[in-house]
Amino acid sequence: MTSIDYAIGIDIGGTKVSGGVVDEMGRIVWRARRDTPERSKSPRVVEDTIVSVFEELMAAVTDDRMHAGPGQVRAVGIGAAGFVGADGATVVFAPHLSWRNEPLREGLSARVGRPIYVENDANAAAWAEWRYGAAQGESHLVMITLGTGIGGGLIIDGRLQRGKWGIAAEFGHMQVVPDGQRCECGNRGCWEQYASGNALVREARSMILAQSPVVQDLAALVDAEPGGLTGPLITQAAKAGDPTARELLAEVGHWLGVGLANIAAALDPGRFVIGGGVSAAGDLLIDPARDTFRRKLTGRGYRPEADVVGAALGNDAGLIGAADLARVQASEA
Ligand SMILES: [Zn+2]
Repeated sequence: MTSIDYAIGIDIGGTKVSGGVVDEMGRIVWRARRDTPERSKSPRVVEDTIVSVFEELMAAVTDDRMHAGPGQVRAVGIGAAGFVGADGATVVFAPHLSWRNEPLREGLSARVGRPIYVENDANAAAWAEWRYGAAQGESHLVMITLGTGIGGGLIIDGRLQRGKWGIAAEFGHMQVVPDGQRCECGNRGCWEQYASGNALVREARSMILAQSPVVQDLAALVDAEPGGLTGPLITQAAKAGDPTARELLAEVGHWLGVGLANIAAALDPGRFVIGGGVSAAGDLLIDPARDTFRRKLTGRGYRPEADVVGAALGNDAGLIGAADLARVQASEA
């Protein structure tokens, strides 16, 4: 029997709960998945889902698939979209779940029998990219995750910066357009209304509704039914050369660059890592972001510039980061 230390990471997304057994090199050696319970379901139902993923993973650890002992799984890390308390124990507010000040660690500890660590999903992704991905060795990292909205994570000198109450790096709600699009948060003109998957899809759908001739090919993909259009479909069309899909992605990239320049003015990072579903568009998104970033950057031409790179760990970053943070936390305790 080997003496490898493992940790389990569980990422609670809008549609899927993804779990994995993660080794000390950040590699996922076993996986389990469930559908995320609906928003209307009670916190207890989500907790049961987490425990069921945990139990499936532990079964794989201890039977002849992994040949490990249950004691080798040191800790469990949970990544969740929303505000997570700086104590790593409480989900203060999760928009996609019914959690309001949910003491998740307390609820789960007895059921999994291991140290539990709860983290915001974008913070967890930032940690994973810093430890094992696109920002290894970077002393000042800002991670931006572009999904339906925008998540953020900040690491300075090897420490995840959570803010006083755990709510730091919620960059998606910086205002970039005065009196702009209404945001779910209640304000107007938030960055995530312009540089997210939702923004991409909203613009594409409005072009179809306006029956613009330039959007004919995209409209044909969904039989002129705007509701059928998704971010991945637009990205696929852009990669295949569709000029309108490329233009839509470039516009999102432009707004991404505007926000990055604002963040650079405040935090002066050495590197921005761009992850989340929309980042699958690669250079079609990131090249326009870099262009705008350089044009908007405070003191441009007279200062070093942060580089802007795509994430390396894809959808697994949140899971890997949550597991690794839990392992680190348990070893420091
Ligand atoms: Zn907002």
